[in-house]
Amino acid sequence: MGGTFDPVHHGHLVAASEVASLFELDEVVFVPTGEPWQKADRQVSHAEDRYLMTVIATASNPRFSVSRVDVDRGTTTYTIDTLTDLHRQRPDAQLFFITGADALAQIVGWRDTERLFDLAHFVGVTRPGYQLASADLPADRVSLVEIPALAISSTDCRDRVRRGMPVWYLVPDGVVQYIEKRGLYRDGVPATPPGQ
Ligand code: ATP
Ligand code: MG
Repeated sequence: MGGTFDPVHHGHLVAASEVASLFELDEVVFVPTGEPWQKADRQVSHAEDRYLMTVIATASNPRFSVSRVDVDRGTTTYTIDTLTDLHRQRPDAQLFFITGADALAQIVGWRDTERLFDLAHFVGVTRPGYQLASADLPADRVSLVEIPALAISSTDCRDRVRRGMPVWYLVPDGVVQYIEKRGLYRDGVPATPPGQ
């Protein structure tokens, strides 16, 4: 499951858990993006902050892990590169790419669509406010699943922190505390990444 995860929230975690259960997945790998090209219009938190929040949020689930492939590549993240790297690391694994209704709608605009579908089976999950549709996508390579509706977005979480509103129960407790500790989403991105 790729994402900016700025911050990771319970919508992401429920999507991952539901798809893992429905498709009997051995593992869900969360892959925070490097420099996200879709979000060039706003300042994105340091990759290391987003990576650490994702680690904190997933630590208690033995089937969840976090990959650094996109963070370490250090350039704009394209899903084709993410899947190519994951396939190289796990050559025998059958890969599924989990995506929300909004992101799935953009798939046809992604690079190398044909190769994407060779590398992974795509699972589109419902998301409040978005229409889940797979028109123009190959039916044997894309599944659509309905999951419990959580109207949570990272954008809203960031706005809430900025306005001094709580994000308790929208994001895992450890992520609330990490946001506070690092002063994320208050006024601009912290001058330095964590640990420096
Ligand atoms: P932002 O508001 O910054 O875009 P976001 O909440 O959309 O953040 P992303 O990191 O952009 O989170 O999303 C990662 C993946 O998780 C995407 O495929 C997105 O569609 C999916 N996703 C995010 N929130 C939900 C949700 N509440 N329900 C289902 N899927 C979700
Ligand atoms: Mg998004």
